[in-house]
Amino acid sequence: MIRLENIHLYTGEAAFENGCVVVDGDRILYAGEWDGCPAGRYDSIDGRGGIVMPGLYNAHCHAAMTLERGVGSDLHLMDWLNQVFPIEANLKERDVYDGTKLAILEMIRRGVVSFADMYYFMDEVARAVEETGIRANLCRGCSDLQGVDSISALKDAWDGKANGRIRISMGLHAEYTSTMDVAQYAAQKAREWGLSAHIHLAETRSETMGCMERHGCTPAEYFRRVGMFDVPTICAHCVYMTDEDMGILASHGASAIHNPTSNLKLASGIAKVTHLMEKGVNVALGTDGPSSNNVLDLMAEMKLASILQKGALEDPTVLNAHDALKMATLNGAKAMGFADCGVLAPGKKADLILVNDETLAICPDIPAELVYCAQGLDVTLTMVDGRILYRDGEFMTLDPKETVARAMEAYRSLMRA
Ligand SMILES: [Zn+2]
Repeated sequence: MIRLENIHLYTGEAAFENGCVVVDGDRILYAGEWDGCPAGRYDSIDGRGGIVMPGLYNAHCHAAMTLERGVGSDLHLMDWLNQVFPIEANLKERDVYDGTKLAILEMIRRGVVSFADMYYFMDEVARAVEETGIRANLCRGCSDLQGVDSISALKDAWDGKANGRIRISMGLHAEYTSTMDVAQYAAQKAREWGLSAHIHLAETRSETMGCMERHGCTPAEYFRRVGMFDVPTICAHCVYMTDEDMGILASHGASAIHNPTSNLKLASGIAKVTHLMEKGVNVALGTDGPSSNNVLDLMAEMKLASILQKGALEDPTVLNAHDALKMATLNGAKAMGFADCGVLAPGKKADLILVNDETLAICPDIPAELVYCAQGLDVTLTMVDGRILYRDGEFMTLDPKETVARAMEAYRSLMRA
């Protein structure tokens, strides 16, 4: 058993000045006041006055796009996609494996314990997830019938594997990249195979207007009609949503994933996050891919999400620190279908991080410190499923030099192709 001591603690529900967490196998045995810690024999970890909190759940990503970081910067979404798609057409399996491992290195370093990924060659992504110890919900970003069919084999090979750390979802890239037949087929197969789903939804004004022209309804109504929301669905972006659209997501238990940096960088707009929450939608946070962000730092997204809503609504009381933390932790875990993750409580999975910046020793308000002061690189320990993956500069499941070198090799050959 591991005991984290000499820590401030934010469990997701409460904060403790003098806290303690005990991890037994892959689960939390105790998380609370130091004085209440059960007696026992432990391997002690000195937190040196840092803050332990639930790990971060990156609920929308295209991890292997580390190989396309910076491609098409400063362009509109469609022009950017027109630069990205030809490069992706040359991707090989090994590239996706190497690019994903670089992304995992980046995420573990910054306290991300789980990610929801939509890409290609997802067997390679699953292999990288299994080997590195991170948690993930994976899907192929389908746009045709063959793609949808291929998810059956992916599910059989990986769903529930690695002690339950890997989940497979039905993936449909977006309304505008597939036909209604394909969308209906994907929804039908998701129901048949018992899978959740992952889509891009209402990311830009032009996508939303285009959907109105093509189908006479909003993207959210379109996906309701094809039956996609019959299964729990991760909906990335949700920038252009009517009240009715929000009601559709809420009543079907679909999750909206807010990607503030990506939405601002691609000038897509500002999602009405506060409004979505008021409507009862589960709202989580994502980085989106590294070529539209360009870094996989959920800590940064958490702060941006909060101050962006405050500025947009001219109201500092909205999206407070606790809301932002919940989006990045519990709501993300829920969106990805990891029901026993996202909060530090007895019996829950031990996915946690230690945030330690000695210069921020005075912290009367722990949630505020985590959201408004802390940065991704302040993370000094990342634990997933009870296993330490990163601690004080050392990666336990990855060789950083080799990971970077291999990704660099993949990047060079991709750009030469
Ligand atoms: Zn995306």
